[in-house]
Amino acid sequence: MPSKGARSKRRTTRLIHAARQYTDYGFVNPAVYHASTVLAPDLATYESGKRPYTYAVYGTPTTRALEAAMCELQGAHGCRLAPSGLAAISCVLLAFSRSGGHILISDSVYGPTRRMATGMLARLGVEAEFYDPRITAADLAGLMRPQTTLLFLESPGSNTFEVQDVPALTAVAKERGVACAIDDTWPAGWFFDSLGAGCDVSIQAATKYQVGHSDALMGTVCYTRDAASAIETAHTELGLCVSGDDAYLTLRGLRTMEVRLERHQKNALKVASWLKERPEVEEVFYPALPGAPDHELWKRDFTGASGLFSIALKPVPEKALHAFTDGLELFGIGASWGGYESLILRFDPHRAGARTATRWPLDGPLLRLHIGLEDPDDLIADLDAGFGRMKEAS
Ligand SMILES: *Cc1c(COP(=O)(O)O)cnc(C)c1O
Repeated sequence: MPSKGARSKRRTTRLIHAARQYTDYGFVNPAVYHASTVLAPDLATYESGKRPYTYAVYGTPTTRALEAAMCELQGAHGCRLAPSGLAAISCVLLAFSRSGGHILISDSVYGPTRRMATGMLARLGVEAEFYDPRITAADLAGLMRPQTTLLFLESPGSNTFEVQDVPALTAVAKERGVACAIDDTWPAGWFFDSLGAGCDVSIQAATKYQVGHSDALMGTVCYTRDAASAIETAHTELGLCVSGDDAYLTLRGLRTMEVRLERHQKNALKVASWLKERPEVEEVFYPALPGAPDHELWKRDFTGASGLFSIALKPVPEKALHAFTDGLELFGIGASWGGYESLILRFDPHRAGARTATRWPLDGPLLRLHIGLEDPDDLIADLDAGFGRMKEAS
């Protein structure tokens, strides 16, 4: 649980000192426990259920240190860890699903979240209904049913970056006693106070900025007291747990997260501003960029931005697009993001089933860029050369 003294300090200080009272012998960092069995001194103690650690599935000092740090940073009552962001999402969806029940999910949700909802949840008799991420509170109220158990948000949305009016939407759910969970991986649990904005559960794909170095997978579920029983029960029933090594890497990444995020943001703003002026670019979807869609809402609710955004190109022949992406020197082509390196991927919002409640209005290719910690002028030069190749191949 969060250390009391640190709570009164400023956030940047707390990021450095959160949950560091585990240190034996004065070492700055926690020990990494490789564990399964935890021995009890005798049968009576074993059967008492009163030991702090009973089995590594239910936590070790290393995993508890990460949970405590996440609780403190997100102002949460509790935190549970999962082996990936997707596993954390699945745990939350299952925690609030009932056979015959109904859940509401944003249409720009992370693809595998949609797959879980339309796959396993449907097989279990749960109806998932997708809604426009920019839905108003009044329209959302109209979608609520007596059997609605969960409102699922993701803001900004994956690939298309719609910012949701989280305080207004959570108020609708609260009024009806419906639980509200958010995937707020993009602001990294740092630039947006989702629990403060009325969410009961905040999910981080900690694989991204908390780990920060593309060398481990991690999911975190932070929750309020109201959601504790549902989350803790589902998490225990599913047997979700993570290794000490991965918990350690996440804790280590966490300490430098703010300085990395600051640079990601600065670089991303520079690259996004440059892209906005390019004739090949139809639109830049980066809420932090003045004039971008939902910039005003982002400004109202967020204190900063991470380094992930997308651009819609004007329609180009397929081979010209590949000439652009495949010749890039500094942008890798690969899944995930949040590491120190720049990445690029295409997302097709017109693919069958990609969106079902809304229609994506643009026809040109949508490219998602993660802006890493390289010198932004080198990134711009790399993209500039890419546009040159694209033109030649058009
Ligand atoms: C990457 C991502 C996830 C999943 O995280 P993994 O650790 O890769 O499973 C979930 N939500 C969002 C928004 C993501 O970007």
